[in-house]
Amino acid sequence: MSNKYDLTIIGSGPAGLTAAIYAQRALLKTIVIEKNPMSGGQILNTYEVDNYPGIPMVNGFDLGLKMREHADKLGTEFKIATVQKVEQIEDGFRTVFQNGEAVESKTVILATGAECVTLNVEGEERLKGMGVSYCATCDGAFFRGKTVAVVGGGDVALEDALFLARGCEKVYLIHRRDTFRGAKILQQQVLATENIEVLWDTVTEEIHGDTTVSSLKLKNVKTKEEQELQVNGVFIAIGNRPDTEMVADIVKRDEKGYIIGDETGTTSTPGFFVAGDVRTKALRQVVTAASDGANAVYAVEKYLSEQI
Ligand code: NAP
Repeated sequence: MSNKYDLTIIGSGPAGLTAAIYAQRALLKTIVIEKNPMSGGQILNTYEVDNYPGIPMVNGFDLGLKMREHADKLGTEFKIATVQKVEQIEDGFRTVFQNGEAVESKTVILATGAECVTLNVEGEERLKGMGVSYCATCDGAFFRGKTVAVVGGGDVALEDALFLARGCEKVYLIHRRDTFRGAKILQQQVLATENIEVLWDTVTEEIHGDTTVSSLKLKNVKTKEEQELQVNGVFIAIGNRPDTEMVADIVKRDEKGYIIGDETGTTSTPGFFVAGDVRTKALRQVVTAASDGANAVYAVEKYLSEQI
């Protein structure tokens, strides 16, 4: 076991980076696996984070960068690789990468977050990057002075609509129900913003355009009325899905694919822990992801001390 890491952390968003900080301070021999060096996870795509205590109105990218610098400063070892699968071996786990390489560790913390859900309608795939976007912060500037639509009714859709309304001439917010899911304060702001028009009870059936998006085919689910809405772009913000196939054989997941785990990060598999948006939980926020990372390392330490 001596060559093995104590801990492999998979993912470098707020949960993974907080786990890395706690693991370094606990003197655990740790490696963090990340898909790309732009650490930060989903917050990189968040224009403003205004509910992380002590750092009001921080840009998501800056917050992600600060967390990464913090983990770096403590000497964290990072490896850029895409994980293909995690296998259980004697006394621990083997994390196998797509290039065939692998690392072995006594414990694992999975902190891979969740990815954007697609609408799955005609035109979406073809016009991706040509007016179809999943990240208002990344692509919003291309639509300055133009007309865009945002699809969804959760926090992200509301935040995206508010962000886009600052630079776009007009923002349509298309929601499939007649009440929003997102935070009340965001709802108030959206409804008070003059250039945002909410299209309630409406679904997007097709995205049209030759080389770039030109219109959306919409349908009111109550009246069954259809309309062609002229827009220059559409931002799809209908939630996230965890990518957990790589560990499907070794740990229990719920029906949506989230790893079943409690606030200590403990899962159905001893030694395999989970932190952040990828686990079953009520509130997926930066602050709860960071707190998960800390708790999971505490659980790792306890687990390792019980193995001796
Ligand atoms: P979400 O809360 O799951 O909301 C997804 C929205 O998309 C819902 O309104 C849902 O409609 C709609 N939707 C889902 N599938 C759809 C489909 N096929 N067609 C049309 N509409 C569809 O997702 P999210 O907004 O991405 O947020 C993810 C998590 O991050 C949430 O827990 C959120 O609270 C958190 N978050 C927090 C902050 C913050 O605190 N600052 C910022 C961003 C995100 P229904 O309402 O009808 O289900």
